[in-house]
Amino acid sequence: MIPFLDLKAQYASIKEEVDAAALRVLASTQYVLGEEVAAFEKEFATYCQARHAIAVNTGTSALHLALLAADIGPGDEVITVPFTFVASVSAICYTGARPVFVDIEPTTFTMDPAKLEAAITSRTKAIMPVHLYGQMADMTPIMEIAARHGIPVIEDACQAHGAEYHGKRAGSIGVSGCFSFYPGKNLGACGEGGLAVTNDDATAAKIRMLRDWGQEQRYHHTLKGFNYRMDGIQGAILRVKLRHLEKWTEARRTNARLYTTLLKNVEAVAAPTEAADRRHVYHIYAVRSDDREALRQSLDAAGIATGLHYPIPVHLQKAHADLGHRKGDFPVSEQVASEVLSVPLYPELTSEQIATVVDAIAEATTAKPARAALRVG
Ligand SMILES: *Cc1c(COP(=O)(O)O)cnc(C)c1O
Repeated sequence: MIPFLDLKAQYASIKEEVDAAALRVLASTQYVLGEEVAAFEKEFATYCQARHAIAVNTGTSALHLALLAADIGPGDEVITVPFTFVASVSAICYTGARPVFVDIEPTTFTMDPAKLEAAITSRTKAIMPVHLYGQMADMTPIMEIAARHGIPVIEDACQAHGAEYHGKRAGSIGVSGCFSFYPGKNLGACGEGGLAVTNDDATAAKIRMLRDWGQEQRYHHTLKGFNYRMDGIQGAILRVKLRHLEKWTEARRTNARLYTTLLKNVEAVAAPTEAADRRHVYHIYAVRSDDREALRQSLDAAGIATGLHYPIPVHLQKAHADLGHRKGDFPVSEQVASEVLSVPLYPELTSEQIATVVDAIAEATTAKPARAALRVG
C-alpha cells in the first residue's frame, strides 16, 4: 500500500522538536499570536524574500485579507483561473467582488498571459494568478500587463512555498502573496494556518489590523476586522518545520525527476512540465491520461492511492452557477481537469515506491515496466 500522503513519516522524523515546540507554547500560555507566531512571521518573510509576513488562521483568510487590503469590494472584478482549488474563488466572493476567469496554459496549468488582457475591464481591481501544484505562473507578462493597466497582482501561492520564477520566490513579485499551512501542503501546520507576505508597508499594516478585529491599538477598531489570528502552537510548530523545508523540497524535486524519467517509457501518460525559468516545488505531481478513470481504478487495485486536483473546474461548480458559465467557456481548464491524476509525491517516498507506481501505471496502460529502467539508470 502506497498512501497519497504520509504525514506520520514526517512527524516521526521530527517528533522531538515538534513536541518540544508545542509544550513550550502550552507552558507560555501564548495560545493566540504571541512570540512564536511573530518569530515565524520574520523567518517566513526571509524565506520568501519579502519584507513583511502576517500570519493568519488559513490560506483562504490570507487571500481574503490581501484582497481587502487592495480595497476590493462589491462592484469590482478580480481575475483568476478556473482550474484551481475553490478557495481562490471563494476568497474573491467574500469581498463582494465578481470572479472573472482566464483560461490556463496547457503546459504549466497556470494562467495564460496571452488571454489575460481580453478579460480586463474598467471594473478589474486585481489579478490573482495561482501557482498551481507548486509551479509559479508566468509572472513577467502578467506583471507587465497588470502594470500597464495599473492593477495590483495578488499571488495565490498556497501550493508554492519556496517556488521560484527567474530566481524570485513565490509571493515576493505581486503586491502580496498568500500561503496555506493546511497539513497536506508542503509546509503544513498541525491544524489550520495561513500567511500573507508583502513588500508594501501599508498593505502589511492593513492586513495586520484586519486579522485582529481591525485594531490599530487595543479597543480602537479602525477597520471592520476579522478574527483570523494564527494559534501560538501552530506558529511554534511551523518554525520547526520551516527549518526542514528546503531539504524536503529538494527531496520532492528529486522524486519528481525520477518519476518524469521513468515515465518517459510509458507512452500512454504525460508527465508534468517544469518550465526552464522556474523552480517547481511539486506540491502535486499529476500525470495526464485520456482514460483517467480506468488508470485510477487500476492503481487503486494495486494499492496505490491517487488524488484528483481538480476534477471539476470552478466555473462549472454549482456554487458558482450565478456567474453564468457553461461547458466550453474555458476549454483548456476543462480538458486538463478531465485528464489529470495526482500520484503519491512527498519527501519520504522511496525510489522503490516510485518505480512501483510507474510500473503499475505502465501495466495499467500496457507499456514496458519501469523497474528495469531504474536498475539500469
Ligand atoms: C489550499 C489552498 C487554498 C486555501 O488554503 P486553506 O489554508 O485551506 O484555507 C487556496 N488556494 C489554493 C490554490 C490552495 O491549494
